[in-house]
Amino acid sequence: MPNLSTIVAEIAAEMADAPDRGAVADYIAPLGAVDPRKFGIAVIDADGACHSAGDAEEAFSVQSVAKVFGLTLALGAGGDSVWKRVGREPSGTAFNSIVQLETERGIPRNPFLNAGAIVISDILLGNRQPAEVIAELLRFVRALAGEDGIFIDNQVAAAEQATGYRNKALANYMRAFGNLHHDVDRVLGVYFHQCALAMSCRQLALAGRYLMRSGRNPTTGHSVVSPQRARRINALMLTCGHYDGSGEFAFRVGLPAKSGVGGGILAVAPGRASIAVWSPGLNDRGNSQLGTLALERLVQRTGWSVFEG
Ligand code: GLU
Repeated sequence: MPNLSTIVAEIAAEMADAPDRGAVADYIAPLGAVDPRKFGIAVIDADGACHSAGDAEEAFSVQSVAKVFGLTLALGAGGDSVWKRVGREPSGTAFNSIVQLETERGIPRNPFLNAGAIVISDILLGNRQPAEVIAELLRFVRALAGEDGIFIDNQVAAAEQATGYRNKALANYMRAFGNLHHDVDRVLGVYFHQCALAMSCRQLALAGRYLMRSGRNPTTGHSVVSPQRARRINALMLTCGHYDGSGEFAFRVGLPAKSGVGGGILAVAPGRASIAVWSPGLNDRGNSQLGTLALERLVQRTGWSVFEG
């Protein structure tokens, strides 16, 4: 295999010329304003070295990628009881769909759907104020990455809040089934601010290191979650991490990964690397068009697909 830095630089150069960059999410103004020509990639290898290229230092809105960190904290707080309130199956429906909630009595299919992440926000909230929960999330992600520059973009959070009619509907519907235990507005305060977490590819890849080494940050040696929990989070990322395009992503890339509508993807090559890519244009399933293509090329050149023996 050629040198990793060379592979990463080649991929960034290929993406710079890619003609089809997808469509930038524009349901809120701050996301719609992002330049579609952006592309960044950062790969942290098993020795902790960072190989990056393109706009890897530029902060972007990680959106649903943050659901991985929210889930990790909720599992720490609630343990396996979390699974009484959220399932572990792909949904086969849109990330913000309300349809299954009716027949499945307010239990979302998985924690990466909006409904699932709203339940996770409810678990994290407990009797606290939303601001305390968000401060904890921010501290957690900064500690995972070892970087203080990670932040919550309050403009994005306010825009989510102002336009989040579907999320409000999902939350109210689950509250009616008894699967939200706290005031809907406070739960959504947590959820909308979680969506507004912002960081660069390099910082996101750093934050994801615990998932590549059995729950232990390979650089600091700190155990973040148990090996079993890390395996399970990776399993959910593989089966449910790309909305209704998770099967296609597994087919093309074959890595546990979570995408967000800001165009970011956090991917894990177990034992080998923590990877973050960002390009704001999305494909028709809401996943980064070039981010997916870049990861596809990375696994082709490294042999890192989890399905390769
Ligand atoms: N903020 C979006 C919403 O709640 C979800 C973002 C995403 O899927 O990345 O509608």
